[in-house]
Amino acid sequence: MTQKPCPLYSQIPAIDRLLHEPQIAPFVEQYGQTLITATLRRMQEQVRINIKQYQELPDWCDNWAVALGQRLERKQALALKPVFNLSGTVLHTNLGRALLAEPAIEAVTQVMRSPVTLEYSLNGAGRGHRDRALANLLCELTGSEDACIVNNNAAAVLLLLATVASGKQVVVSRGELVEIGGAFRIPDVMVQAGCQLVEVGTTNRTHLRDYQQAINEETALLMKVHTSNYSIEGFTAEVSVSELAALGVKSQIPTAIDLGSGSMINMAQYGLPAEPMPRDYLDQGIDLVTFSGDKLLGGPQAGIILGKKQWIEAIQHHPLKRALRADKMTLAALEATLRLYQRPEQLCRQLPTLRLLTRQQQEMHDMAQQLLPEIQAYYGDRFIVRSEPCYSQIGSGSLPIDRLPSWALTFAAADGQGSTLEQLARCWRGLAKPVIGRISGGRLWLDLRCLEDGKELLQALLL
Ligand SMILES: *Cc1c(COP(=O)(O)O)cnc(C)c1O
Repeated sequence: MTQKPCPLYSQIPAIDRLLHEPQIAPFVEQYGQTLITATLRRMQEQVRINIKQYQELPDWCDNWAVALGQRLERKQALALKPVFNLSGTVLHTNLGRALLAEPAIEAVTQVMRSPVTLEYSLNGAGRGHRDRALANLLCELTGSEDACIVNNNAAAVLLLLATVASGKQVVVSRGELVEIGGAFRIPDVMVQAGCQLVEVGTTNRTHLRDYQQAINEETALLMKVHTSNYSIEGFTAEVSVSELAALGVKSQIPTAIDLGSGSMINMAQYGLPAEPMPRDYLDQGIDLVTFSGDKLLGGPQAGIILGKKQWIEAIQHHPLKRALRADKMTLAALEATLRLYQRPEQLCRQLPTLRLLTRQQQEMHDMAQQLLPEIQAYYGDRFIVRSEPCYSQIGSGSLPIDRLPSWALTFAAADGQGSTLEQLARCWRGLAKPVIGRISGGRLWLDLRCLEDGKELLQALLL
């Protein structure tokens, strides 16, 4: 038998013919010929592979226009997709941490559309430095002498160390050699900044004399790191901030703290666990403090360094500052966020992070009760759907052991199979606006703390 060419290949339509099909022509108008032609070529290729493998045309060949439309839509879809964060973690690093306040969103939009006075002073017609306006605002809010803003808190720590202690020794307690998720480890940052880490004390106890004994002519910095994502309990001792600051003054060595998630206001007034405030540490005599913009502050990703003018000036002039500086969109968002702190009475309403963190359990409970009947009706044959209390986490390493009472919708597989639950979670991740929950104890939990529009969730879940 001689091999005859498969007749199926001749059924692949030519690009030129497809481009002129009445259903495809409008796509050319919308997406342009380049993208359409490239996509059609790839589709032709897929058909050839399919014929070779299975000796048949793929199903979608019945309607090239529909298949093309789907592929174009997928191709144009943005990779950064809005999702429902029902994970129970408010400041979820993998979901982009803080949601910005409306005034911050407006401020960003404005600086994207128009030239702005980023490094331009209107009175002197010269170049000012880009953090100036924000630094003044930060000083007003925290009592700091000066400030520097960079890309994130990791950058803030790196820049601080490189400026103050490059080629020299930095003394840190063994109990504070923190690793934050995503490869930020204090010992590694020290190496990158060209510093030599000198560990003192033990994992559970460090005393002032430990720092004292480590000081020599090579010592350039005494540093504390807020143990933001863990806590050491039991037989413990750490040196207080004021003691360390006093030791720094006495030995003429600067002191610094990496706070991670510093809060600009006292969280206790909202019934939340108290979190270190930069102002308190500066008041106690610490020279430099660093923290994140997108953790409890509720702003954009940024790193903020506060402290003594002499050190901030040196930091501003370090060559790394240029590489780590914040862009105009970040600065605009941060400024608008900080301006909200000038009017603390409205903060709880205007700042999404604080609004979500301070929601009362009753509110989430009522929402769960309201959503339950429709969701039960829809999912009830395959899942046991309940309304149950749960705990939310603040997240991003802040306040690791404190949890906030919340309320959730929970789904248990009626067939008792873990795979059924996994399948449901996967299905929700595939939605146009994916729903992100958390599987724990044989149930899929949708913590309602971060859900402000119940109707929108219903629309997503009842496809
Ligand atoms: C979160 C955190 C960091 C890193 O901050 P980013 O803004 O994510 O770069 C550094 N140190 C501590 C103690 C933290 O909690």
